[in-house]
Amino acid sequence: MVAGLVCIVCRTDYRRAPDAVTLVVAHHSGRQLLACEGVCARMAGGAVHSTDEPPLPLVERVHRYEAEH
Ligand SMILES: [Zn+2]
Repeated sequence: MVAGLVCIVCRTDYRRAPDAVTLVVAHHSGRQLLACEGVCARMAGGAVHSTDEPPLPLVERVHRYEAEH
């Protein structure tokens, strides 16, 4: 899983959709798992698990991903 770079529900690649509004719905291995605001966040259980934490900026998420791969 490309944590933080794709919606965990619909797999939208945020690198190709930089204007997407995302919510942090969970964490995995210290990374944010993101879903699109709305339907995806609800399907991901965002109402239960969502945090008030803002997603890291896309550029930062890409940077972390590239640093690990
Ligand atoms: Zn989505």
